[in-house]
Amino acid sequence: MSATLAAVLLIGIFVLAAVLIWLGLGLARRAQKLEEPPPTGAPPEAPPAAGVDESSAVAAPPAPGLRDRLGKTRAVLARSLGALRGRRAIDDEAWDSVEEALLVADVGVSTTTRLVDELRARASAARADDPEQLVTLLRGQIVDDLSGVDRTLHHAPGGPTVWLFVGVNGTGKTTTIAKLARREIDDGRPALMAAADTFRAAAADQLAHWAERVGADVVRGQEGADPGSVVFDAVDAAGGRGAGVVLVDTAGRMHTKVNLMEELKKIRRIAERTPGALQEVLLVIDATTGQNGLAQARQFAEAVGVTGVVLTKIDGSAKGGIVLAIEADLGIPVKLIGIGEAPEDLVAFDPEEFAAALFA
Ligand code: GDP
Repeated sequence: MSATLAAVLLIGIFVLAAVLIWLGLGLARRAQKLEEPPPTGAPPEAPPAAGVDESSAVAAPPAPGLRDRLGKTRAVLARSLGALRGRRAIDDEAWDSVEEALLVADVGVSTTTRLVDELRARASAARADDPEQLVTLLRGQIVDDLSGVDRTLHHAPGGPTVWLFVGVNGTGKTTTIAKLARREIDDGRPALMAAADTFRAAAADQLAHWAERVGADVVRGQEGADPGSVVFDAVDAAGGRGAGVVLVDTAGRMHTKVNLMEELKKIRRIAERTPGALQEVLLVIDATTGQNGLAQARQFAEAVGVTGVVLTKIDGSAKGGIVLAIEADLGIPVKLIGIGEAPEDLVAFDPEEFAAALFA
């Protein structure tokens, strides 16, 4: 091998080695780069700012209104009224559909019969010949039927106000008391809850829990204590603390019905010892029980004298028509309706709004 060839080979080996080393270094640098964190100042994704809940940045959906909460009753009405609207004339089938609409909404047989008779008279006076007119007339008639009644909750002009809540267990007395206490507090009147259902310790616990949640005071006795003494203490405390309204929770069940009614009468008498304090005896009825609720209501109304009805759970019921039956059969105004379980889910009963929500 000549010296020149050997020199060329040596240079070639050097060049090849240099190229391999350069390639190797390049690959190592790339690998290192991939493992390194991204340079500061340019985060791949900005983390959410501390303390900011992303959901709070999105506008809350509007609270469901009465129309939404009356959805079940509206749906059953709409089915029968749809059949009515589908007719060409106001014939016998059209009248059957009106009757059916009222019965499925739990208006009750006697009130339905009266309403249909009155509607026939209205339709004839208006010379109505279109089923759609009948729907409009029915809506107007329901509003008229429920109008002209005092549905306000009354406050004592001076000294503490007492509102007594009666009704079967589970109808929603405690929840309604909490909702009203919150409303009173929002209106600037202190609220004091009296746990006069001393029959069940859990009832007083539940009331105390709600009192804390809505910012009300609570007066309670030992389990089995005399409910009358709890009411007496509560009214006394309210006078001393300048509490606006005393909301009295009562038992909804005892060993016998006679016991319960006698107990409620006694509570009422004790509340009346402070002249002018007892302003409302509110009967709480669960709308989902429909006509059964009406039978219970009659017993309470006869025993303690009721000034108004709170119809709860209308949101879960297809029997909203019970409002008409309560007013017609018992002659007691429905003052409030419960449209859910949250503290704000209580609305004053307004016939115009109610009919609009049902027929919308
Ligand atoms: P009480 O035994 O009469 O005091 O009844 P509660 O106040 O304990 O209520 C019984 C149940 O009914 C609870 O689960 C409440 O959340 C529920 N409730 C009360 N009012 C309403 C309402 O207007 N709508 C719905 N959906 N539930 C309600």
